[in-house]
Amino acid sequence: TSDNPDRSVAFYSTEMNQGMQERMRVESGLRHALGHGELALYYQPKFDILTGHIVGAEALVRWLHPERGIVPPAEFIPMAETTGLIVQLGEWVLEQACAQAAIWQRAGLPPLRLAVNVSAREFTPSLPGRVADTLKRYKLDPSWLELEITESTLMHDIERVIGIMDRINRLGVALSLDDFGTGYSSLSYLKRFPINTLKIDRSFTTGIPHDASDCAIAGTIISIGRQLRHRVIAEGVETLDQLEFLRQSGCDEVQGYLYAKPLPAGDFELGLRENWLL
Ligand code: C2E
Ligand code: CA
Ligand code: CA
Ligand code: CA
Repeated sequence: TSDNPDRSVAFYSTEMNQGMQERMRVESGLRHALGHGELALYYQPKFDILTGHIVGAEALVRWLHPERGIVPPAEFIPMAETTGLIVQLGEWVLEQACAQAAIWQRAGLPPLRLAVNVSAREFTPSLPGRVADTLKRYKLDPSWLELEITESTLMHDIERVIGIMDRINRLGVALSLDDFGTGYSSLSYLKRFPINTLKIDRSFTTGIPHDASDCAIAGTIISIGRQLRHRVIAEGVETLDQLEFLRQSGCDEVQGYLYAKPLPAGDFELGLRENWLL
């Protein structure tokens, strides 16, 4: 209070310390997790909306915490992005996804694109080389890999970003623009990005078919995507009504709980054998 300024200063600094201590605790925990095999990739299938065939899967990281159980990425990815730990985490994710894809490639499965999420801080000129090296080490065909990048990546130096995208593209690795419409990137740049797919964010899918704005936004993204010759995928599809709206609007692919939640590799493989590859 104003009659006791010292007290409020003490209060704020204690609160700040607690926030900082919490961040440091999570950071050192995540560092430990990276080195001790506590991270795992879960895989969520993506389907062609017309044929119903599986076309790929998104790899989503989970922290298998010995005490806390399965920790979702929302609880550690933002911290990893601010501290820079995301770079090592991203290296692990790419490595792990390629190792898994190589196993499925060797098992003779039809090519499924495994999509890896790449944060803005990982999108540096060294990324294409690292991707090329990883593909080579696992003898993995590039058609098995896709990178999902968010609009925030594109807000940095555009020419530099396009240069990196071009190099990834030339490797034969697909690129998709994640969370499309939720950021601030200018539509005028969109035509210059060598991307294959636009991804409709779950925040828009959720309101379909009842929320008129969400329907309009999803419909507009689909229409822009088609005119630019990109594929369009909707994430977070949970109901048949949503699926029907998206189909009628010309969306190409779908992903969501209606089909499957993200699954550990073993369960995903079971899904492939018993359902999705039939
Ligand atoms: P995202 O890339 O937008 O991923 C989609 C999120 O929606 C995932 O949450 C997925 O599990 C969830 N989802 C998919 N379908 C449905 C549905 O039908 N209903 C509901 N309620 N949710 C659905 P998740 O796995 O918790 O990941 C959250 C975010 O964390 C991701 O959002 C992504 O931004 C980030 N992330 C996850 N893994 C990685 C990673 O390996 N690297 C990086 N840089 N970020 C990651
Ligand atoms: Ca994603
Ligand atoms: Ca995201
Ligand atoms: Ca999203």
